[in-house]
Amino acid sequence: MPIFSLKLKESINQPSCTMEDIKELKEKLASYQKENSELVRRVLELEKTESRLKKSARSMEEKSATLSAIVKSSDDAIVSKTLEGIITSWNSSAERIFGYHESEMIGQPILKIIPEDRQDEEIEILSKLRQGIRVEHFETKRLTKNGKLLDVSLTISPIRDTSGVIIGLSKIARDITEKKLEEQRKHNFVAMVSHELKTPLTAITAYIQILLQISKKDSNPFYATTLTRAETQAKKMITMIQDFLSLARLEEGKIQINKQKFELHPLIIDLAGDAQFLTKKHVIDLISCDNIWIYGDPEKLGHVIINLLNNAIKYSPEGGTITIHCDKEGDRIKISIQDEGVGINLADQKRLFERFYRVNSDKIKTVSGFGIGLYLASEILRFHDSKIEVKSQEGMGSTFWFSLNIHQ
Ligand code: ADP
Repeated sequence: MPIFSLKLKESINQPSCTMEDIKELKEKLASYQKENSELVRRVLELEKTESRLKKSARSMEEKSATLSAIVKSSDDAIVSKTLEGIITSWNSSAERIFGYHESEMIGQPILKIIPEDRQDEEIEILSKLRQGIRVEHFETKRLTKNGKLLDVSLTISPIRDTSGVIIGLSKIARDITEKKLEEQRKHNFVAMVSHELKTPLTAITAYIQILLQISKKDSNPFYATTLTRAETQAKKMITMIQDFLSLARLEEGKIQINKQKFELHPLIIDLAGDAQFLTKKHVIDLISCDNIWIYGDPEKLGHVIINLLNNAIKYSPEGGTITIHCDKEGDRIKISIQDEGVGINLADQKRLFERFYRVNSDKIKTVSGFGIGLYLASEILRFHDSKIEVKSQEGMGSTFWFSLNIHQ
């Protein structure tokens, strides 16, 4: 029996107990009972919270064990560091890749593995991460313990505390030295083969041109027609080979942009003439580009335009009009090439400028190409502070355009 009820009974049995006392005692009893049930409720609540906390601690432990197993077994170096660049963790792949044991690196500055000429990168990366920007697949070089330079691809993310404040950085470094060497070998091979192919082809084109001149005097038109076709095909091959050579140069960082002041109109007239020479099915129409001067590399920009014209021809198998527009927009000139060809769907439009990307469609599967023309064009335009854009709809033709600063 609860102690308060006993007391109550005792008080009631006392002869001196007045009604007032009884009332007071009853009130006290009620208040104690209320307090008691509140305490019971709180105890239950605390028990629930305790079980919740235990559960979440267990799940945290599990997560942390999984994470540490992943970090341990990863083939990539996984390193964490403070915002000041002091290393706080160093996994076994980091030991394998960079040659330093964990005990040699914890507490050390990350600069230890950054080559001297690349130490500014760290400041740039830190400033990006402070703004909450993740750095992904950043290709650079890092130093091993024995002084060897490695090609690495870095992905760096901020580590935040529960309130979202950045308290450190995690860095995943993948050793891509072998991949880079393989790429280099491939480029060297492509450059060498392209160069070797170009020399005899140029000679063949020259011989065809001589024969063409002679055949024009002949009464049989068959020779001239056949030689013209042979010349067209040889020129197409030279263009493709040139694209491969440009790609190799670009990727080696050896592409040379020779900027000078030049007039746009004569260049475009020449290119439109060259393109018209390749086709009888299409009409190439030029809306005037008169009196516009550009400061840029005429050869490289010419390459961009001829590439867009060739594509307009290639991807309009039914023929049609190809229009070159020049539109003044403030101090820039917008050059666009519009065709009435097969068009491109939205998903493909997003990937057209990637290296080796070709649209996979029945309508154009017989059209030859390597998917490097638009990639090269966009790279050349990048050197001219410009970019290539496209508007297209499947079956409704395409328009490609870019703009350049007008030279005043
Ligand atoms: P290639 O023509 O050698 O394949 P490009 O880089 O010049 O390489 O073009 C990439 C792809 O973009 C082409 O394969 C083609 O599918 C698509 N494309 C380019 N220009 C046009 C165009 N004017 N109309 C339709 N598709 C085009």
